[in-house]
Amino acid sequence: MADTGTLHDAFLDELRDAYDAEKQLTKALPRMAKAASSPDLRKAFEVHLEETRGQIERLERVFEGLDEKVRGKHCDGIAGIIDEGKSVMEEDFDAATMDACLIAGGQRAEHYEMAAYGTLVAWARAMGHADAADLLQETLDEEKAADAKLSSLAEDGINQEAAQTASAEEDPEEPITTPVSARTKTSRAAAAVKAARR
Ligand code: FE
Ligand code: ZN
Ligand code: FE
Repeated sequence: MADTGTLHDAFLDELRDAYDAEKQLTKALPRMAKAASSPDLRKAFEVHLEETRGQIERLERVFEGLDEKVRGKHCDGIAGIIDEGKSVMEEDFDAATMDACLIAGGQRAEHYEMAAYGTLVAWARAMGHADAADLLQETLDEEKAADAKLSSLAEDGINQEAAQTASAEEDPEEPITTPVSARTKTSRAAAAVKAARR
């Protein structure tokens, strides 16, 4: 008889993918924490690293509850997001801009995970794996909270600080009375003209 895969097989595949993604993130998060200048941002990455370790244990409990061997399967999606983050960390950005970029990269990872766990919870519920669904929901909630934390760090100061550094750099002589947005727009346009002349 042909071995046709079912939703249960797809579910196990996605669990293995998530398990591998979390493992990759336990290596990436310490690098992100180290690259962060804002103590609050560094702390956020460190806190999420601890949560990620708990998420790995939670996935192990899900595998065990399903009588499945604990194993991962290389997650290309998170590997790509981590690679992009690595290239950004090699850039020569000012401290606030680097923090803004670390947040951007971190949020890409959180959104990827939110999509993955959202699917896993829905499939677990559809197949009646209530215990697995509850465990996966706990992780989904943590990923959402981590994403919200990064948004608040960006919006409560880091983005503004980076934007001010950008406008100071681009228009050193311009009076500070001009709104930031207007100054940035002018200088962007000027920079574009300059670039076109080269
Ligand atoms: Fe995670
Ligand atoms: Zn994946
Ligand atoms: Fe996460």
